[in-house]
Amino acid sequence: MRFHSFLIKYGEIGIKGKNRYMFEDALVRQIRYALQDVDGKFYVHKCHGRVYVDCDGEYDFDETVESLQKVFGIVGICPVVRTAVKELEELKKDVVAYVGEVYPEGNQTFKVEARRANKSYPGNSMEINCALGEAVLDAFPGMKVDVHNPDIRLNVEIREEVYIYSRIIPGPGGMPVGTNGSAMLLLSGGIDSPVAGYMIAKRGVEIEAVYFHAPPYTSERAKEKVIDLARLVSEYSGPIKLHVVNFTDIQLYIYEKCPHEELTIIMRRYMMRIAEHFAKKDGCLGLVTGESIGQVASQTMQSLAATNAVCTLPVYRPLIGFDKREIVEISEKIGTYEVSIQPFEDCCTIFVAKHPVTKPNVEWIEKSEKNLDEKIDELMQAALESAEVITVKKRGAEE
Ligand code: ATP
Ligand code: MG
Repeated sequence: MRFHSFLIKYGEIGIKGKNRYMFEDALVRQIRYALQDVDGKFYVHKCHGRVYVDCDGEYDFDETVESLQKVFGIVGICPVVRTAVKELEELKKDVVAYVGEVYPEGNQTFKVEARRANKSYPGNSMEINCALGEAVLDAFPGMKVDVHNPDIRLNVEIREEVYIYSRIIPGPGGMPVGTNGSAMLLLSGGIDSPVAGYMIAKRGVEIEAVYFHAPPYTSERAKEKVIDLARLVSEYSGPIKLHVVNFTDIQLYIYEKCPHEELTIIMRRYMMRIAEHFAKKDGCLGLVTGESIGQVASQTMQSLAATNAVCTLPVYRPLIGFDKREIVEISEKIGTYEVSIQPFEDCCTIFVAKHPVTKPNVEWIEKSEKNLDEKIDELMQAALESAEVITVKKRGAEE
């Protein structure tokens, strides 16, 4: 069956008044972005308080649906057949043809839900429901009417054209990116942080990212891997401004001056400081990490408190209560897992201590950091100034 449009269903809660426009405009923008690399011509628009995607000519149905399923804020995707407004006898034929093609089994229960938005159309909705229902029953003896809990709700909306639809393909839910400000994601090449980025974007937050590398200890290929991950996340989040920070000199200096068992925590604190600098510069309202309580030594409650202590912006940790298994499941679903498990070194793993502290005390850590004197400020400044900024977009997205 050829569908001419998609009716986009979104959650209505909390989007009254002015918020509604902002929500819908962001949704339209994100849908356009999602469809940029899909073969076909699409017209995304708001109409009668709804959002539609009209498809002009040939297009790939599965690919279109798959792309729409990456747009946060969409709760359901209804493929619509549009036909000209015709007399009831002719309309019956269109509806029967629709049911025959979409439900070839012909053994479901159904209910017709006609809507006469075009008030000049003869009859009332009730009469149209009955006439169309009868036509379906006559054509498909295996079908039955159930007005309370039907398998199929057959919507027939008479407007300037007739819209026929019944299937609702689930969307990802959440809120359209751009409706809840922006945040700075600390993106490593691991499994967790891309998932954290996906989850915060799902709540409508636009993301930027920062990646720390330590050439020559970490390779160009490790950096490419992070760009690949950002690109996969950007299929959901929209374009990501990625800051690539050279962390080598800072790491070597910390290694030289501080107790090795505190290395990871101190490094983390410097990562947070740098990430916060970029976040504030770009008006981000928070930082985001892929941390989860107790996953490794640097993620105990004490370690998290020690890293948190240097931040003035809120730090969001969407995975905080997740087990690794649950995080892996999401990363498989969103397609980042295969890239995350590619074996490239991360700057955090090259200088790790054999026995890192698991219960750091903020005062000791602060004391150890005193050994770093002014030189660390210079190194920070150099790292900030030399950061490379890359705008990462999903493949096929326009410049
Ligand atoms: P991930 O899978 O996200 O790398 P992980 O389990 O390996 O997480 P850690 O390496 O302890 O955990 O990192 C904790 C968090 O710190 C990461 O989720 C990420 O947000 C941030 N982080 C770690 N390394 C880097 C890095 N090289 N660049 C940017 N952020 C990083
Ligand atoms: Mg990691």
